[in-house]
Amino acid sequence: MQTQTEYEALAGMSVEELRRKADEHLWVQGEYIGDAAIEDHFRILVEGDGINVKDIYGNTYIDAIAGAWLVNVGHGRKEIADAVYDQIKRLHYSSAWDHGNIPAIKLAAKLAEITPGSLSKVFFSLAGSQAVETAMKIARQYHVQNGSPHRFKVIARRGSYHGESWGTLSICGDPGARAWLFEPLPPMGRHVDPIYCYRCPWDLKYPSCKIQCVKEFEKAIQFENPETVSAVIIEPISVSVGKQVPVDEYWPMLREICDKYGVLLIADEVITGFGRTGKMFACEHWGVVPDLMTMAKGLSSGYLPLAATIAKKEIADKFTQSGRRMLSQGITYGGHAVACAAALANIEIIERENLVENSAKMGAYMLQRLKELDRHSIVGDVRGIGLLYCIELVKDKKTKERFPPEVGLDVKLTKKFKELGFLHKGGALIFLAPPLTVTKGDIDEIVGRVDRAIGSLEKELVVA
Ligand code: PLP
Repeated sequence: MQTQTEYEALAGMSVEELRRKADEHLWVQGEYIGDAAIEDHFRILVEGDGINVKDIYGNTYIDAIAGAWLVNVGHGRKEIADAVYDQIKRLHYSSAWDHGNIPAIKLAAKLAEITPGSLSKVFFSLAGSQAVETAMKIARQYHVQNGSPHRFKVIARRGSYHGESWGTLSICGDPGARAWLFEPLPPMGRHVDPIYCYRCPWDLKYPSCKIQCVKEFEKAIQFENPETVSAVIIEPISVSVGKQVPVDEYWPMLREICDKYGVLLIADEVITGFGRTGKMFACEHWGVVPDLMTMAKGLSSGYLPLAATIAKKEIADKFTQSGRRMLSQGITYGGHAVACAAALANIEIIERENLVENSAKMGAYMLQRLKELDRHSIVGDVRGIGLLYCIELVKDKKTKERFPPEVGLDVKLTKKFKELGFLHKGGALIFLAPPLTVTKGDIDEIVGRVDRAIGSLEKELVVA
């Protein structure tokens, strides 16, 4: 660990100056640094090791959200740094137009090996939203080339998140928060209500609900006219709606509906891939193979930006068999040699250290420990799978009434999290997704700190 003074020397300026320059020039995502409520949350991070990161002052935090659901192998992996260095020395870039490079070819083959079924042809990009855009374009071009030129609509779920690009915004299920700023959006997005058993949109209970949330897809396809529907896209486990794990029938039923109407099924595994849920890919929990799968985040554990879209062989073959063989998509940095080398080293670690199994095993323990938090009067629901969890806080456990915004739950909890040495923010939905390397001891520490934060909040909000 270097000291603050050493980091200041490295930066060539004091911490105060760094903060001032950040305020002036760095467009921080999510919040405005100068906002008093958030100012405290803004940290200049300098080092990472395992599940911990350090800020420039030398404070250590547990990264219980793996950066942004992505540092699956943990921080500070020398093997990945070495792989990156080796590749940069050899060949740092080769254009994805007309050419390939060894890491990109090996990684594409590796992804074909570890994804289920006949998923086998990979298009590389740089971010999850690009992977989703690519999936939508593959689906659209596939239909156009196969005599269904009117299939352009993409059905997603309300509350879902698929990225910030214009195309992905049109399928994100949160128009209240985004679309009002950016409309008109591209016309493909259509939406159905999500799985949300804790607050069922139809006020039904499983199993007598007969999985109404899946049937909504069929209703939407029929309503829109099947001949105009290109694809259905969903996150296997919806993170943005708070880690809703679907009931066992959901995915197989959705597969059947899509097949019945010739609609392609896209699994957005940007968060859920690479062991996060206790399987290499979340759709394996239900034995369903999507037509297209998107991945990013855990693909490289964030060591370098990389994303991918993988298509079933039957779909990719249609491109080579049809008149226009080329996929109309191009990304300058697609299949970047160095990023692919990092991803190969990352997957090697996941396999060598059995991190998928560890995610399942430690995840089961974490769920058991998190369920104990139900004793708090403000814990409404605890849900998730593998190492992907959410605690939903409520004002009233019986009625499930939410805390009103004026309570300032987010700011209060974020402050408590910081005091307790957590990196991430708090809110009515507390997200937990530590690196897949966690031990039982780490989980006890994480759950213990969450317990203390909720207990303290409970005292402030309920007893007061
Ligand atoms: N899809 C899902 C399910 C995501 O959670 C995200 C980002 O969190 C994206 C797509 C977009 O990824 P990116 O931020 O890398 O563009």
